[in-house]
Amino acid sequence: MKQRIALLGSTGSIGVQTLDIVRENADRFEIVALTANRNWQRLAEQAVEFDADIAVIADESKYTLLKEALAAYPIKVYAGKEAIAQCAAASNIDVVVNALVGYAGFEPTLAAIEHGKKIALANKESLVVGGEMVMRKAMEHRAPIVPIDSEHSAIFQCLVGETSPLRRLIITCSGGSLRDVPREQLANVTPEQALRHPQWNMGAKITIDSSTLVNKGFEVIEAHWLFGCEADHISVIQHPQSIIHSMVEFEDGAIKAQLGSPDMHTPISFALMYPQRAVRRAESFNFAEHPALTFCEIDRIKYPALDIAYDCMRRGGSAACTMNGANEVAVAAFLAHRCGYLDIVRAIEYALSHATFVAHPSVEEYAECDREARELAAKTLNL
Ligand code: NDP
Repeated sequence: MKQRIALLGSTGSIGVQTLDIVRENADRFEIVALTANRNWQRLAEQAVEFDADIAVIADESKYTLLKEALAAYPIKVYAGKEAIAQCAAASNIDVVVNALVGYAGFEPTLAAIEHGKKIALANKESLVVGGEMVMRKAMEHRAPIVPIDSEHSAIFQCLVGETSPLRRLIITCSGGSLRDVPREQLANVTPEQALRHPQWNMGAKITIDSSTLVNKGFEVIEAHWLFGCEADHISVIQHPQSIIHSMVEFEDGAIKAQLGSPDMHTPISFALMYPQRAVRRAESFNFAEHPALTFCEIDRIKYPALDIAYDCMRRGGSAACTMNGANEVAVAAFLAHRCGYLDIVRAIEYALSHATFVAHPSVEEYAECDREARELAAKTLNL
């Protein structure tokens, strides 16, 4: 029987690549629901191509445009964020691919979990914001979560078949688009410069997060929740070639790594097909073309966001939710040329030092912490 998929965020970088996998494996997967934020044109095209039952647009002002574009097809059209969470919970869905960006992904993840769905999770912010709640509810409802993020997919793949304790998770880091820019020049970095990632072609927000290493910090938090590993057992190493996607070190000193060309189709297909693997036509990896795999320590002064994320993880509660909310506002402002590059981390620090800390937040309290963090970031950035 085909796996019936709700793909949240189908118009984005991960969403489009997920549809590539579905197209290549039409005998195994069926698209039931697709969602987007504002890009109704691409959503309409995808819904027609994949013969979806449902198309949801989060931005209600685009509802009529989407509805008209799909008028000739038997596709139900909805709008608003509640409709996205309803897609994740629908009874005719087997797998929810959460490829939303930012806090917007958190509540749909919870909705999918509460209905016992398998979740292929790209939206790392779900775990950054409320990892404790997400993992607890996933256990309660027996909802499997398989990561799409390449580092976590690598670790997941290294752990298949292992039952012994770990010594360390080693998360690799390309260094992002500004790795060769000296610290003293960061103040003058433009969005265009920061958006040029050397290895990965991704959505704008994660590309900026990669340049500040907020993304790497979020990945550390994501790994903590997914694999139950404490902060002292998660390390980050710079590996500019992005060939080793991450590693696991065991107590006997053995280290397992997962490697290959940087291509998100691999972790996406693994998340959808685990415990099997896809058959893909890509060329085999040519080691001779990659004679040097190099590693170096992260410059923690140039990239303070990494230690801020470690700190949030150790504090627990609402700290990482605050970091995420402030970061979302600051990244959007930077992309719109409304603040400088270094203001991103400054806004995070300001929000963390002024926000209310809640030790065990409810869903409503997470929403309130997110709102407060956004307000604090906007205030310090004069938005
Ligand atoms: P994109 O920005 O490319 O796509 C985001 C998707 O979510 C789009 O479909 C967008 O719709 C939709 N969306 C955005 N905001 C909202 C909102 N408020 N409500 C509802 N829908 C919304 O992001 P990516 O694909 O790059 O990233 C998605 C997630 O995957 C992120 O959490 C990211 O960190 C993670 N990830 C991404 C990787 C990558 O290679 N891209 C690698 C590893 C992890 P619209 O098109 O209409 O704006």
